[in-house]
Amino acid sequence: MLDKIKNVVSNLSKIAVEKQISEKELDIVIENLKIDLLESEIPFNLVEKISENIKKHMIDRKFSRSDEFKEIIKNEFTKSIVEIFDKVEDVDLINLIKTNKDNPFKILIVGINGSGKTTTVAKIGYLLKENNISSVIVAGDTFRSGAIEQIKEHADRLNLKLISQEYGSDPAAVARDGVEYSKTHNIDAVIIDTSGRVQTNNNLMQEVLKINNVINPDFTIFIGDSLAGNDLVSQAQEFFKFTKFNGSILTKVDADVKGGAILSILSESSKPIIYIGTGQEYKDLEKFNEEKFLSGLFQ
Ligand code: GDP
Repeated sequence: MLDKIKNVVSNLSKIAVEKQISEKELDIVIENLKIDLLESEIPFNLVEKISENIKKHMIDRKFSRSDEFKEIIKNEFTKSIVEIFDKVEDVDLINLIKTNKDNPFKILIVGINGSGKTTTVAKIGYLLKENNISSVIVAGDTFRSGAIEQIKEHADRLNLKLISQEYGSDPAAVARDGVEYSKTHNIDAVIIDTSGRVQTNNNLMQEVLKINNVINPDFTIFIGDSLAGNDLVSQAQEFFKFTKFNGSILTKVDADVKGGAILSILSESSKPIIYIGTGQEYKDLEKFNEEKFLSGLFQ
C-alpha cells in the first residue's frame, strides 16, 4: 500500500555518500523528494514540513554510513506523522455504542457515489452483529436507481432489518422511520445510508444537512475512497463543512499503492480514521492502526 513512500526512502538512502553534501546538491535531493512525496499524495503542507526538517538535519553534515542518512529521513517522517496522529482523538465505535444509554445509537453514513458507502454500511452491520450489537439499516439513498435493491440484498444476506420507502421519498423521513422502528423494537443501533453525491452538488448536500438536522446522529462517518487521490481531500473538506463528521472510513486500502490518502484525510479533517476497508467481503473492515501504518512506511 505504501510502495511509493518506501521507494522514496530507499532512493534517498542511496544518495548517502561518504562526503559532505553541498547545499546545492541537497536542494536537488529535496526537490526530488518533494515530487515523490506529492506523487504519493501526501498533503502539500506536510511535504513542505518534512522536506524542510530533513534539510535542516542534513545541511553541513557528513554521513559516514547510509544507515545514518536513512535514519534521519525515517525520524523526520515519523515525527511529522506522529504529530498528525496526536491531534486526532482516539475513537472506539463499538465502545461508544455499547456505552450509549439512549437507544438507538444513530450512525449516519455520507460520501460520494462509488466510494464504497453501501458495502461499508453492510460491513458495519456485520461488525456490530459480531459484537452482539443489534442494528437496522436505513435505505436513505432514495435517489439512485437500484440503490434500494442493492442495500436490501446486503440486509437480507446479513439477516438485518431494512427500513425503506419508495424511490423519490424524503430520505430524512426514511431515517426517522428507522429511528422510530429501533426505539419500539429496542434495537441498539441504526445505520443510515445516504444518497451518494458529488461534493459540489448543493441540493444533495442540503439533503444530507436535512437528514442531519432531523435525526441528530450520534456519529457521522465520511466514507472516502483511498484511490480518489487528491480529490479525496476536497471531498472530505466539503462533507465536513456540511456534516461535521466524527470520523472516516477509508475504503479500498487493499488496492491503494500510494498511501498518502490516509495522511491527507487525517491532516485535513483532524478526525480519526476509525476503520479501513481492505476488501469486498463483510469481514474486510479493520481498525486503523497507527503503529502498523508507521512501521509499514519503512519496511
Ligand atoms: P457506493 O456507490 O458508494 O455505495 O459504493 P459501493 O458500496 O457500491 O462500492 C463500489 C465498489 O467498490 C463495489 O464494487 C465494492 O465491492 C467495492 N468496494 C467497496 N469497499 C471496498 C474495499 O474496501 N476494497 C475493495 N477492494 N473494494 C471495495
